[in-house]
Amino acid sequence: MQRMTRQRSAVTELLADLDDFRSAQQLHELLRAQGQGIGLATVYRTLQSLADGGEIDVLRSEDGEALYRRCERQEHHHHLVCRRCGATVEIDGPSVETWAAQVGAQHGFADIEHTIELTGTCATCTGTET
Ligand SMILES: [Zn+2]
Ligand SMILES: [Zn+2]
Ligand SMILES: [Zn+2]
Repeated sequence: MQRMTRQRSAVTELLADLDDFRSAQQLHELLRAQGQGIGLATVYRTLQSLADGGEIDVLRSEDGEALYRRCERQEHHHHLVCRRCGATVEIDGPSVETWAAQVGAQHGFADIEHTIELTGTCATCTGTET
């Protein structure tokens, strides 16, 4: 139990230092580089339980890999992610929220949830940054 807690806080602290979404594999490598004796399976489990508890955000890369990030915002939001470098912007989608609620209501559904992530190429990667 003690061991689990220490590994969990190592993962949480690492995520707090990172701005972009990272895969479990990448996070594991970073932890090893810090000298943490933590197995990849433990990293996966820890990330899963943090995600289940809503403490971190998860999204799928284009090849289906799970990517993790600790968001600054606790409330519901969306992400705009650069598919080349992983740079992430947290965004609101007020018209999406309205649309989702309306479509749900039309079909008599309650407790509507949705996950919408936008991917693109950021200004740095396209070289258009001023
Ligand atoms: Zn977020
Ligand atoms: Zn980029
Ligand atoms: Zn939304």
